[in-house]
Amino acid sequence: MPPMTPTMEELSTGTGHERVVFCRDPEAGYRAVIAIHSTVAGPAVGGTRLWTYPTEEDAVTDALRLSRGMTYKSSMAGLPLGGGKSVILSDGLSDGEGADREALFRAHGRFVERFGGRYMTGEDVGTSPADMEIIRKETAHVAGIASDPSPWTAHGVLQAIRAAALHRWGSDDLAGRTVALQGCGHVGFHLARKLQESGAALVVTDLDPERVRQVVAATGAQAVEPDEILDTEADVFAPCALGAILSSATIPRLRVEMVAGAANNQLREPEDGDRLRQRGILYVPDYVANAGGVISGCGEVLGWSEETVRGRVGRIYDTLQEVLRLAGEQDVPPHVAADQLAERRLADLQRGGVSPWI
Ligand code: NAD
Repeated sequence: MPPMTPTMEELSTGTGHERVVFCRDPEAGYRAVIAIHSTVAGPAVGGTRLWTYPTEEDAVTDALRLSRGMTYKSSMAGLPLGGGKSVILSDGLSDGEGADREALFRAHGRFVERFGGRYMTGEDVGTSPADMEIIRKETAHVAGIASDPSPWTAHGVLQAIRAAALHRWGSDDLAGRTVALQGCGHVGFHLARKLQESGAALVVTDLDPERVRQVVAATGAQAVEPDEILDTEADVFAPCALGAILSSATIPRLRVEMVAGAANNQLREPEDGDRLRQRGILYVPDYVANAGGVISGCGEVLGWSEETVRGRVGRIYDTLQEVLRLAGEQDVPPHVAADQLAERRLADLQRGGVSPWI
């Protein structure tokens, strides 16, 4: 059995994590951090990321941040799941290419198994379904190859945009509104179609011209170059590409009234949520809007019907309204109100209260 050493005490002190472990298997060339943020609502769920980190501390910090994010996303989505995350240090191999992936992921599977079901992993940046199959040789606590979650994610983002529209403009009717969409990938494509069906006009972009072409063909959207989308005048900016898109450099360029999209971790730093507010731009917290995928994944594991999944994804509309109401009451930006609500729901569960969501 490989050694398992709790470490990085100082980094995880005060972060609220239940457990953070540094895992090593020198023979496999394996070094990883597994962070369990919370199992209050249910088993901690969170993918395995394979990434090149400058230092071990950076890997720990990423695992802490991402696992906490998973707890908050599940809490806001009312799922019986907690939050965790694994990061494997790829030690200079940005995608693990050339590494013995069999040895690497079997080692990881052995560590996941040691949590005895309190932590369940799955795919993330740098890992693939094939890697999950290797992990499965050592543990059952790995998500199967789920069906594509992106239509559900897009459905949830649409609900979030509608709820934010009601808050902002007094009507959730998107007919006649213009949405500037960054990223025509899995989620972006489905979101574009749903927005077009809702009567919205679209301005879209992607680094990949073929993906732009597909969305334009399906929706009649207007295409712009990738570096033009932030300057596009529209009602809504919908980031569906990369994280950290909202920063002190990009926010001054925005010519929209609202930001709502699927990308994870859209704010480069929390202060960017304040910057948006100062500019009078309504920010829809990313993890509230993009929870449709995790809801559908949870539904697959728990055997929910499509109707149940649809109903739960539909509640994103109500959750966002609650977040925006709270933000107004407390006079705080929506990203702060969302965290407060997620923490309140967890505290209720911890006190043994019955969540109406679960
Ligand atoms: P994807 O890889 O299918 O699509 C992303 C698209 O963004 C690609 O087409 C890529 O070319 C494009 N892109 C990257 N950088 C760009 C740039 N600078 N300008 C314009 N386009 C750019 O990914 P996806 O599954 O559609 O996910 C989109 C985002 O939503 C990601 O941030 C992902 O983490 C997040 N998310 C996805 C899901 C899901 O169900 N797929 C769930 C939750 C969150």
